[in-house]
Amino acid sequence: MNFTDLNLIEPIAKAIQEQGYTTPTPIQERSIPDILNGRDFLGCAQTGTGKTAAFAIPILQNLSKNKVQNKHIKALILTPTRELAIQIEENIKAYGKYLPLKELVVFGGVKQGSQETALRRGVDILVATPGRLLDFIAQGIVSLKNLEIFVLDEADRMLDMGFVHDVKRIIKLLPQRRQTLFFSATMPSEIQKLADSILNNPVKVEVTPVSSTAETIKQSVYFVEKDDKLDLLTHILQNDISDSVLVFSRTKHGADKIARKLQASKISTEAIHGNKSQNARQNALNNFKSGKTRVLVATDIAARGIDIDELKYVVNFELSDVSETYVHRIGRTGRAGAEGSSISFVDGLDLLNLKNTEKLIGMKIPIVKDHPFHTDNLVAQKRDSNNKPAGARTDRPRASQTANTKKKPAVDAGKKPKNKSFFRKK
Ligand code: AMP
Repeated sequence: MNFTDLNLIEPIAKAIQEQGYTTPTPIQERSIPDILNGRDFLGCAQTGTGKTAAFAIPILQNLSKNKVQNKHIKALILTPTRELAIQIEENIKAYGKYLPLKELVVFGGVKQGSQETALRRGVDILVATPGRLLDFIAQGIVSLKNLEIFVLDEADRMLDMGFVHDVKRIIKLLPQRRQTLFFSATMPSEIQKLADSILNNPVKVEVTPVSSTAETIKQSVYFVEKDDKLDLLTHILQNDISDSVLVFSRTKHGADKIARKLQASKISTEAIHGNKSQNARQNALNNFKSGKTRVLVATDIAARGIDIDELKYVVNFELSDVSETYVHRIGRTGRAGAEGSSISFVDGLDLLNLKNTEKLIGMKIPIVKDHPFHTDNLVAQKRDSNNKPAGARTDRPRASQTANTKKKPAVDAGKKPKNKSFFRKK
């Protein structure tokens, strides 16, 4: 199928062509005709599948049919993170560049002044994160009473991030008669219930089950002791990879530490996470996209939805306890069929997560041993919320350690296990 088969109006067809799109992605192929026909839509799809255009293109086309040119909000796209919101608005702007529709993005973490001014001037399509939208509604600056189309994007992430109550409050304020488009990478039961409660006989499309990782992504695992991870990353960036790399860190503190180490090794690096201001995050993202910064270190929430064309490498500095996160992370590369590689550093604290991740994706990830920090001696350990082995106390010694045992060496996490299994029973 070609975009020309989708009966798109000339201004949209032209804009899409300028984006370099010729063939609709599978979700677009299925969503565009039905959304154009006014159907509700349930898309089980993650970022990287082209889902933004899957809803943005038919929304633009349907709204451009409106005879009345007023600047009431007619389409609302609710999305969990600022980065994602900005990206969606950028896409809508690109696809709608030849249409007289006005789009705007609003999100928290920045002063509301300029967003408020733009809202007062009038907006057709609003992209928003839930908290800031509720603020504007409470202040009487936003009214949703003329809304025609509502998009709930990344519904599962809304749940993970604790936004589900805000989302439900917003839904209560929407007109009953509307078209609803619902997107989620996964469908846990709470999300399924929410979908059932707001969708009216939707067309259902599932494009990439969360457990499947793009076939174009070459995945690998590096076994390494925790204390060698920074050196391994530096080594790889200095010797093996010359491209840009997105590095995922479990913690904000960890992200900063990685960035400092790489900067000290003269590798241009920036970190983005929730403690950075919105402007700092956006600048870092822009620098990375333009190639000014070679390495971007990000926490999962900050990286959600980051859309970087031709990103070839993703490094998981640690593996997440939530296996689905692996799929989201490596989905930053290998987008829209391009080739990509993901490298996961695995120490004793990551072994259990590796096992769970491999179970989820249904394959063993090949182990790369050809590097100076490889170890076969990892021992599976549980991790606490500070990224330390569970039970390890760094603040003060345990009573048992203060008695006659002071001089005993600490348990060596790297000691070779007697049995060869990585997963020693405790
Ligand atoms: P998304 O899943 O919306 O985050 O989109 C993933 C990436 O695919 C973005 O970089 C889009 O610009 C790109 N994209 C979306 N639709 C197409 C298409 N039909 N052809 C080529 N690239 C696309």
